[in-house]
Amino acid sequence: SLSDKLQNVFKKLRGKGVLTEKDLKEALREVKMALLEADVNFKVVKDFIARIQERAVGQEVLSSLTPGQQVIKIVHEEMIALMGSEEDSRIRYSDKPPTVIMLVGLQGAGKTTMAAKLAGMLKKQGKKPMLVACDVYRPAAVKQLQIVGEQVGVPVFEMGTDVSPVDIAKAGIKQAAKMECGLVILDTAGRLHIDEELMQELTDIREQTSPSEILLVVDAMTGQDAVNVSKSFDELLNITGVVLTKLDGDTRGGAALSIRAVTGKPIKFAGVGEKLADVEAFHPDRMASRVLGMGDVLSMIEKAQTAIDEDKAKEMSQRMLSNDFNLEDFLEQMQQVKKMGPLNQLMGMIPGMGSKLKDVEVDEKGLARTEAIIRSMTVEERRHPNILNASRKRRIVKGSGSSIQELNLLLKQFDQMKVMMKQITGSMKGKRKGGLMG
Ligand code: GDP
Ligand code: MG
Repeated sequence: SLSDKLQNVFKKLRGKGVLTEKDLKEALREVKMALLEADVNFKVVKDFIARIQERAVGQEVLSSLTPGQQVIKIVHEEMIALMGSEEDSRIRYSDKPPTVIMLVGLQGAGKTTMAAKLAGMLKKQGKKPMLVACDVYRPAAVKQLQIVGEQVGVPVFEMGTDVSPVDIAKAGIKQAAKMECGLVILDTAGRLHIDEELMQELTDIREQTSPSEILLVVDAMTGQDAVNVSKSFDELLNITGVVLTKLDGDTRGGAALSIRAVTGKPIKFAGVGEKLADVEAFHPDRMASRVLGMGDVLSMIEKAQTAIDEDKAKEMSQRMLSNDFNLEDFLEQMQQVKKMGPLNQLMGMIPGMGSKLKDVEVDEKGLARTEAIIRSMTVEERRHPNILNASRKRRIVKGSGSSIQELNLLLKQFDQMKVMMKQITGSMKGKRKGGLMG
């Protein structure tokens, strides 16, 4: 499957400490092949790879992630962007109820099933839906809607098969208003292929009922065909969104990855099984993780992003809590921080803190001088700064090429830090620790 193939590419990337341009090219070529084999639209793949290449080459260097991990992260982010945003999956409701949702699509795509699934789901959310049977070409279609409607406990409006679909839709909406159903879902007929007669019928229904949503139902398992169908339906009907069915049987992901990019219309819901409860709002991030087989990859990235050696950090915070946090600990902590790369980037990686602190300039030079000063002290002096008399200070200053003022400032700051630490410790007591050192 696509997921397996991508995981293989990623496995190779992950191990690499250094990533050459050749490695990157090779990895992206494999990603490209995997996507094409999964039936993702050619143009979508091309643009997708180009965007990743651009970002990977000019990439922000997070030293806590290996270059390979960074490429994986970029692929994941771009894949989410390809499929849209969370807000996309919300239903637009009309100011003048009932809100009309019209389901359209080819025969067998899953419209009737989805009509009942949506009705059931929205009913659970407190709406009062009504289903309307506008497929008059197969007598069994009306019966099918009645059965699934009953299963989810939603009224089904039907007028048999001798009335035109437009008239049924209009009568159904009237009836819904009478019964104070705020939501009408129209189940329409499909064909095996797009034909003019069908499109004319759907256009008529649309014009006569002004739906808030025209959702195209497509079978995810049909891959690129689903994408082409989406494009045609959108051109003829100006759909408001897509519903992807049979995602449970789709191991390729081609339709899910292409539809948004090709039509500009969001995927709003997904059918994930034959049972009427098997429906969910479409989440681009979840889909991306699924396609990438990312459960483990994602948590790996998360871990790397908080690259602090956890045991060290724990030990360190324990030392901070204790009263004998000294200059030696301070030095070790600086080493730890340095290992994680430039400080402002480290700050950027802390969830929720990024935007605020990203632009803070960190004085790396100043840190280096501090380190030099502490290194010129004996262990005894680092552990017990209070023994630093004038002659010791002169020796340290000479050894580190600094000034007495600098040394005094450092000691003053260290004292302040200890006071601050005590306050933090006090306020943390009883609470679970979180954040950088927690
Ligand atoms: P319509 O012709 O578009 O109305 O399609 P139907 O609603 O009658 O569905 C056609 C077939 O697809 C039925 O056998 C459904 O049970 C099946 N089906 C619909 N949605 C899903 C889904 O999400 N997963 C699976 N596995 N089967 C589905
Ligand atoms: Mg049907």
